[in-house]
Amino acid sequence: MKYRYIFVLLVLMTNLVSAQEDESVFIKKIFDNALTNQQAYHNLEYLCTNAPGRLLGTENSLAALEYMKQYFEKTGADSVFLQEFRTPAWKCDSSSVFILPASGKAIRLHSDALGPSPSTPAEGIMAEVIEVKSLAEVEKLGKEVISGKIVFFNRKWDPTFVRTFEGYGDAVDQRAHGPEKAAEYGAIAAIVRSVTNSQDYFPHTGSTRFNDQKIPAIAISTLDADLLSETLIQEPKTRVNVFVKAEDIPETTTFNLIAEIKGNEKPEEIIVIGSHIDAWFNTAGAHDDGAGVVMTSDVLRLFRELNIKNKRTIRIVIYMDEELYQSGGKAYLNYVKEKAEKQYLALESDGGAFTPSMFTVDAQIQVVERISRFQKYLEPYGIDKIKAGWGGVDIGPLKEINVPLMSYGTDSQRYFDMHHSANDTFDKINLRELQLGIGCITSIIYLIDKYGIE
Ligand SMILES: [Zn+2]
Repeated sequence: MKYRYIFVLLVLMTNLVSAQEDESVFIKKIFDNALTNQQAYHNLEYLCTNAPGRLLGTENSLAALEYMKQYFEKTGADSVFLQEFRTPAWKCDSSSVFILPASGKAIRLHSDALGPSPSTPAEGIMAEVIEVKSLAEVEKLGKEVISGKIVFFNRKWDPTFVRTFEGYGDAVDQRAHGPEKAAEYGAIAAIVRSVTNSQDYFPHTGSTRFNDQKIPAIAISTLDADLLSETLIQEPKTRVNVFVKAEDIPETTTFNLIAEIKGNEKPEEIIVIGSHIDAWFNTAGAHDDGAGVVMTSDVLRLFRELNIKNKRTIRIVIYMDEELYQSGGKAYLNYVKEKAEKQYLALESDGGAFTPSMFTVDAQIQVVERISRFQKYLEPYGIDKIKAGWGGVDIGPLKEINVPLMSYGTDSQRYFDMHHSANDTFDKINLRELQLGIGCITSIIYLIDKYGIE
């Protein structure tokens, strides 16, 4: 009797091991395809070259959507459609910052307006500058000091954060809320040190929040921020001219792009893979987030070419407007609610196409544990962690209806050298790293669909 149990146990274990081996063999097939195919790379080159500055409301944002729509149609999606929605937009025509020292001639700094900064008068705004290191410092100095001045937020990025997303999170309040705080205390414009760890002349733009009171807000490069700071030490009364020509657009019609392959067993359960196609006016948006768009889109191609019979519906959502008002994610949630659809899980890629590192999961602990069991299949390809953590900005609204969220994470060390700047160009994309990302995202979606997350 005892021997029979042992025999049964051995057979079971052998089956389990061989199932695991089979799965590893199939995952290798996914990577073999991903590592030998350059379609996504070419798609990204197209987006960066022909549709840079794809900010919400621009012609390029629509051209980029059209290109990806045609790509999905060619690739054999079961359905491809644009989800229309209306939202406010903003555009920036030009901007500049000049230091005007009492002694010597004006120095032009490398600058880009923050969105949605209002315009200055045509001659710009000229005033003395108060340098601060935090929002709290503005409060401490009070209206007597701040009123009528240009506030210069110049706290440096803390390089001791190992994961750069944490460094960004620590520094970004100056950009996101500094101008608003300065306006509250009577400032007439705000200058912000670019939120990056790199020392160079690239200004990094980004979104800033305003209450009712808006003041022109502009980012300068880190080296220019150092120069301005040194100038203010030499000559504290130095005046600066800030110029912005921008426009609020009360409402525009725009779209998310949706492409899907219907599920064979549970088509009503939808696995969403998302990324955003918009990019700031000053950038080609290669890593942020053209890379996410082409990597997640390639999942569809791989499912088709490898003839994967997905149980659930695999849906790629290319979101518009992650950068300015995050309207695409909200519009998608509305769409899902209207249709009363079941979103089984949502995965986002918005961390660039660098060497694969991890998946993070924002869901109940049992779901996190279930998904982390797939890690063993992805370890050979660089995924050494699947753990609880961040989901994503575009898929974030889906949390309201309890959708498990996931994010694809890469080696983060270089991302913020480029993020929201003219430095984020196609030549910064490494083909191999992009291909590995496609393999990782396709594999995890394949495993989630096949084995489920319950
Ligand atoms: Zn992004």
